[in-house]
Amino acid sequence: MKIIAVGRNYTEHAAELNNPVPETPVIFMKPDTAVLKDNKPFYHPDFSNEIHYEIELVLKISREGKYISEKFAGNYFEEIGLGIDFTARDIQRKNKEKGLPWELAKAFDNAAPVSPFLPKSGFENIYDLNFRLEVNGHKVQQGNSKDMIFPFEKLIAFISQYITLKKGDLIFTGTPGGVGKVNIGDHLAGFLDEEKLLDFYIK
Ligand code: ZN
Repeated sequence: MKIIAVGRNYTEHAAELNNPVPETPVIFMKPDTAVLKDNKPFYHPDFSNEIHYEIELVLKISREGKYISEKFAGNYFEEIGLGIDFTARDIQRKNKEKGLPWELAKAFDNAAPVSPFLPKSGFENIYDLNFRLEVNGHKVQQGNSKDMIFPFEKLIAFISQYITLKKGDLIFTGTPGGVGKVNIGDHLAGFLDEEKLLDFYIK
């Protein structure tokens, strides 16, 4: 499986990092070795002094597709979960300044904790879906799928023009505003609607 992630998909987050609102989705990838499951602890790596949390809605692709039209894109995911797009912001900043790729800032081991996935049919309206992140009991990020610049179907249609989507692939759909640094000892809790799906420590 692969992880395809979307940068700058919420206006607030684009603004907080001084990035323009994009005209087409900003896409990057994480390898399968980035996945961290079952609320296992995240071990802070030594190569960065500024690992940021970014909570995101995550789609699990349910069937293979290429050149998927927006109209049928909804048939390609059945489940939604939460993920953290851990980002070594210090490395990313340096690479951005030099015009270099972001991989080392985004694709390192365990940089993609994911929650259990829930059937989308269980939600009243997936286009008005609240999610939030709490660090040590304080709400730090809050988002709603209705505020996405490129909604789920647009992302699937766009990505699948370039990259075949396969069953089990994950799409990280972008983070709302409020990103910040994690410290060893922090407790992260991610809520989809009011259900706590992410619940783990930084070690
Ligand atoms: Zn992100």
